[in-house]
Amino acid sequence: MNEQSLLKDWISESRNIVFFGGAGVSTESNIPDFRGVDGLYHQEYQFPPETIISHSFYRSNPGEFFRFYKNKMLYPEAKPNAAHLALAKLEEMGKLKAVVTQNIDGLHQAAGSKNVLELHGSVRRNHCTRCMKFFTLEEMLSSMGEDGVPRCSCKGIIKPDVVLYEEGLDEDVISRSVASISQADMLIVGGTSLTVYPAAGLIDYYRGKRMVLINKTVTPMDDKADLVISGSIGEVLSRAVDI
Ligand SMILES: [Zn+2]
Repeated sequence: MNEQSLLKDWISESRNIVFFGGAGVSTESNIPDFRGVDGLYHQEYQFPPETIISHSFYRSNPGEFFRFYKNKMLYPEAKPNAAHLALAKLEEMGKLKAVVTQNIDGLHQAAGSKNVLELHGSVRRNHCTRCMKFFTLEEMLSSMGEDGVPRCSCKGIIKPDVVLYEEGLDEDVISRSVASISQADMLIVGGTSLTVYPAAGLIDYYRGKRMVLINKTVTPMDDKADLVISGSIGEVLSRAVDI
């Protein structure tokens, strides 16, 4: 039996699938992984992305932070791809119980997924740091002043609900992710190199015998997986779900 048909069989037999995904899920919607950076950034920015997207840099240099954020991390025109749609379909069929994602683009919800646990937050949610007022992505962008920093009518800076370097992950999202993964009868991991901690450590909570890894390249977890499929996450999942 080949890997693709084994995946299909396992999905048909499962009732509590959890998907754990990373940047590779969104690259198929043409959203680049900002960690996969090269020298190009140095022509435009004085600091590496990991420095700019940090809490201390946001505090000390909000203008440069928001310039990078707007130009390199926001893709408001991006659309869900085949992977997002297949996962939403599995949830609708009652088979998939949660999507745990490292992505911040909100594309799982755009595809129709309901129970999405966003480990690193979402660009779609923004709050005033002074009065806590909520702003959509579009409202945040249209609130940017001449210095490029988005401000509320109360003059407070509007901060994206995105987990920056130096900031901790949301405890509630973590505990719900641990609960989902530890109860899953099948865990599908895709589009992640499994190198970003603590998020990647969450898959250690899986206790079942059907851990599937779908990736274009090898990962440090390949040996622990029960099934490894090399390929496009969108193609593999849409074939497995028949959409
Ligand atoms: Zn405010």
